[in-house]
Amino acid sequence: MQRYNIPESWRAFLFDMDGTLYTNPVYMQFQIRSIIERLARLQGCSFEAMQGAIAAYQETWAQTHRGQRLSLGNTLVHFGVSIEESIRWREELYEPGVYLKADPKLWETLKRLGAAHALAVVTNNPVLVARKTLAALGVKDLFQGIVGLDTCLVSKPHAAPFLKAAALCGVSPLACVSVGDRYDMDIALPLSLGMGGILVDGVEDVYHLVI
Ligand SMILES: [Mg+2]
Repeated sequence: MQRYNIPESWRAFLFDMDGTLYTNPVYMQFQIRSIIERLARLQGCSFEAMQGAIAAYQETWAQTHRGQRLSLGNTLVHFGVSIEESIRWREELYEPGVYLKADPKLWETLKRLGAAHALAVVTNNPVLVARKTLAALGVKDLFQGIVGLDTCLVSKPHAAPFLKAAALCGVSPLACVSVGDRYDMDIALPLSLGMGGILVDGVEDVYHLVI
């Protein structure tokens, strides 16, 4: 776990969802694979060819953007899939309840953190998928706000979803700490907004968050 620019006192935690509130490599891989499969069918090529084209595009993008990573949503735009289409695909393809189950330890952690702080989720998945995910984990009622891909129609890293989450929590961005498992998606942008950041390896790190 790595901490960045933690404010002296803060009032809200903005959590990434996938890879942060749960650790499940099989489900994470399914999410990427199912999207690539659908895109491959649409473009009339094999899964492997599509996967290779996506990896090549992301690699080139990183080389021209100081090594930063591009989200899958923003990558799909390059391949002709709008953010709106991307939202529909994810809503149709993802059933978190198949992969995830209630996590009492996460519930206890969030209950503890939420006693004095607002809690929000900022995810590149649609709000519907986020609601299903949080319900499967048994923690849906502990969050004041959910910001998904369909809330601002932009994919992280972008200021809009983080500022929206701060607003839903009723606090200044300067009083927020963003928690996530990918520095480029969840930490770098919030830091530029004056938020704090905590990079985690998975939900096991979230269990150890202290105020
Ligand atoms: Mg994540």
